[in-house]
Amino acid sequence: MSEFMLTDVATAWPGTCAGCGGTKGPFLNTHRNLGGNHVYWCPNCSRKDARARGYLKGDRLDELSNAAAAVHERDVEIASLRDQLTLAGAEAAELKRQLRERSDEIKDVKAHAARLETEIRRAAENTLAAVTG
Ligand SMILES: [Zn+2]
Repeated sequence: MSEFMLTDVATAWPGTCAGCGGTKGPFLNTHRNLGGNHVYWCPNCSRKDARARGYLKGDRLDELSNAAAAVHERDVEIASLRDQLTLAGAEAAELKRQLRERSDEIKDVKAHAARLETEIRRAAENTLAAVTG
């Protein structure tokens, strides 16, 4: 039998809590299937379960379940920020590549300008020599 584990989304049919039909996770995945329905357990039903079993009572249970929800929200936010960071890193790498490409183009244009300047100077000196004899 597989261990129960938490999952953000109830992906298997019916995709809802077996206790209340809720759709808000994270869900406890029981890895059990009853009558074609995968059995998930939502945070509210887990809280009711813990209270009914006397594991925790009243305020302390609310405090811990609120803390667990806050931690979960932070984890989701951190994952989102990591994704954004990865994306920003890829964009930065692309911009760096474009910058290197532009820099190479500028070097080429400067070299071409220097060659033209030399040719113009030589042509001017030849013309001057022809005119002054
Ligand atoms: Zn439920």
